[in-house]
Amino acid sequence: MSIETNIFEQVEKYETIIIHRHQRPDPDAYGSQCGLAAIIRSNFPGKKVYQVGENVHGLAWIAEQEKIEDDVYKDALVIVTDTANQPRIDDKRYAKGKFLIKIDHHPNEDPYGDICWVNSHASSCSEMIMDLVNAVGGQLSVPDDAARMLYAGLVGDTGRFMYDATTPHTMRIASQLMEHNFAAAVINQKLDSIALPVARLAAYVYENMTITKNGAAYIVLAREVMEKFEIKDASTAPIVPLLGKIVEVKCWTILVQQKDGSFRLRIRSKGPVINELAKEYAGGGHPLASGAFMPDGEKIPEYIKKLDAIAASYTGESND
Ligand code: AMP
Repeated sequence: MSIETNIFEQVEKYETIIIHRHQRPDPDAYGSQCGLAAIIRSNFPGKKVYQVGENVHGLAWIAEQEKIEDDVYKDALVIVTDTANQPRIDDKRYAKGKFLIKIDHHPNEDPYGDICWVNSHASSCSEMIMDLVNAVGGQLSVPDDAARMLYAGLVGDTGRFMYDATTPHTMRIASQLMEHNFAAAVINQKLDSIALPVARLAAYVYENMTITKNGAAYIVLAREVMEKFEIKDASTAPIVPLLGKIVEVKCWTILVQQKDGSFRLRIRSKGPVINELAKEYAGGGHPLASGAFMPDGEKIPEYIKKLDAIAASYTGESND
């Protein structure tokens, strides 16, 4: 039996299904989670299906998260989408269900769950949800609203079809989703829109970043800067790709200081592999898009040196 069929059979079997995704969600986390929930709801109207986690204001246009009591987990099937490792799962009650399924497209560093379905070649977890639908041939239909959410996830995680993980298969799935009745252009615009404070911060980033001679770029967004621009950590996502637009930059990092003084490291690359570096600083992720953490600023110079060395030793072509 294929893993997709096995997942479908578990979905058929359980009356209550609770779907989780990662903390600090992005459109793919929301899209894969809530898109899957909408598909199950419409195909199995008798089941109780919940999507849980913190509600993020900026993603409310995709879907709303639900609050549920602990006892709902008793005898429930729990599915976690788009989340590589257990510490990153939003709402730790995921472990309280009867059966656990992981569906993800990140490197499988933490193969948790009774079923663990990971395809690190998929552009997005939303693409995998459509792979699941297609694999069980006609047994699952996709309501228009689910197609809208999955499209948002797919477009979000591919940087609007720009990143390496965008394959001919990704485009076929995008096309399949666009056959549904929703306004794709509106979603593209929403994903591309930035709030005014973010636009002002973007100007600050371009003015104040550093680019090493080897092509590593960085900027530290200290608390004072975040406060001056009235930016919350969750709003920094549109800032992250900016440094990569510069021709000379091969890999780059944005260090966002948190209220407690610690730093969230966001690391990206056009070619040099940066996820091993992320792992050195309590993080991980994709070869060209990772995140990590520092309790304070002490190791920032060492970290930047390492990023610079990665840029220096890269001999491949970067997509510039
Ligand atoms: P971010 O910069 O937070 O958008 O993260 C980019 C990617 O890095 C995410 O899609 C995750 O795959 C991964 N990532 C971020 N933070 C962590 C972490 N603390 N541990 C493992 N992977 C992470």
